[in-house]
Amino acid sequence: MRSVDNLARTIAAVDARLPLAARLLEELRARSLDEGGGVTRPSYGAGEQIGHDLMRAAATEAELAVTTDAAGNLYATLPGMDRATPRWISGSHFDSVPRGGNFDGAAGAVAALIAIMTLRDLGIRPRQDMVAMAIRAEECSSWFSGQHGGHLGSRAALGLLKPSELDTAIHLGTKRTLAQSIDDAGFDSVAVRRGPPLLSAGNVRGFIELHIEQGPVLVREEVSVAIVTSIRGTVRARDARCIGAYSHSGAVPQALRQDAVLATAELIHRVEQYCDQLRAAGDDVVFAIGRLHTDAAVDSLSKVPGDVRFTIDLRCQDANVLLPLNSLLQDYADEIGARRNVRFDLGKRAVAEPTAMDQAFRAVLQQQAGLLGLAAPEMPCGAGHDAAEFVRANIPSCMIFVRNTGESHNPDEYMELADFRDGILLLACFLLKMA
Ligand SMILES: [Zn+2]
Repeated sequence: MRSVDNLARTIAAVDARLPLAARLLEELRARSLDEGGGVTRPSYGAGEQIGHDLMRAAATEAELAVTTDAAGNLYATLPGMDRATPRWISGSHFDSVPRGGNFDGAAGAVAALIAIMTLRDLGIRPRQDMVAMAIRAEECSSWFSGQHGGHLGSRAALGLLKPSELDTAIHLGTKRTLAQSIDDAGFDSVAVRRGPPLLSAGNVRGFIELHIEQGPVLVREEVSVAIVTSIRGTVRARDARCIGAYSHSGAVPQALRQDAVLATAELIHRVEQYCDQLRAAGDDVVFAIGRLHTDAAVDSLSKVPGDVRFTIDLRCQDANVLLPLNSLLQDYADEIGARRNVRFDLGKRAVAEPTAMDQAFRAVLQQQAGLLGLAAPEMPCGAGHDAAEFVRANIPSCMIFVRNTGESHNPDEYMELADFRDGILLLACFLLKMA
């Protein structure tokens, strides 16, 4: 009976804060609207700052302790009884891609804030600090060119940012370096460079990120929320090429041609077939050739094509599947190239290993979803998130997805408030269990 009462109180407390959640997201949208009907919130720019300002004001109003770190990440804390006990953090980012959707990132930051407020509203005195975090510059690949490893805000907080990235990441709009952008926003790049980082495996017990789903799975499954199993790793080739020879498309016998398009088509088909086999055997793998083109200055209807450039994007939950695929690509390219008398140059491939979400945390999420009466299936996450950086810093982490009834990285992105409520409820119940 008692736990039923507690659950009812938690639901009532979340519902009491839900109008605030809706208002924060709506004000953020209204103030960062762009002429394309989407929102544009550059990393270390005006739109991102609006999100941080809104969160700071709401957290202060709710008597949470508000702090920032040297890189400008914002923390709204419900202090624990023992401040030295490793803290719990939930959060996400406020920046967006250009002409993006309002909820990618912002939903997770607002959900974290509402969940921590709910703990406070319920009179919980947690053992350890319970923290809502607004993370800087998650979408930095849209805003910073030059050499950098992405997810700049979380990596700065976790000590994963190389000092050189402060100088080699260049803001596309302002042309300022990352160090200058941090300082321009009122923070302290010298302290970021010097360290030590604020967050580490020694002082963070766990991290949980709520995020709008970036694919159509939850719409198809007709459920509002899901629990993420892992963030897929990637093997990516940005500059793959097949070099054959241009020749007359009528006069040269087929067997004597060095057709770069047909060779590339065979390579793509072979990789697709292999991925199909892996999926049929129960493995998780997805595969795309995002760019594929002949040289428009040379190609022609009546020529055998001699040069093709393409990209490869392979993603998989399991490093034991992903890494062999990387070498298999080369084997296929060598074999097809030799047989078709062309040469493949797959170029440098960037490999990011998959990051697994914590098994025990996933089990708690399942249990809490059950108590709430939510069907919350498990699914892999295809895109990169700050949660992956926490895992790389050896901090156990997990993620909740909320249904997206529109597109992703697109003005049509959309999240129903009822679905958001389910996500916040699950997050709040999880954090209550951990507090
Ligand atoms: Zn995001």
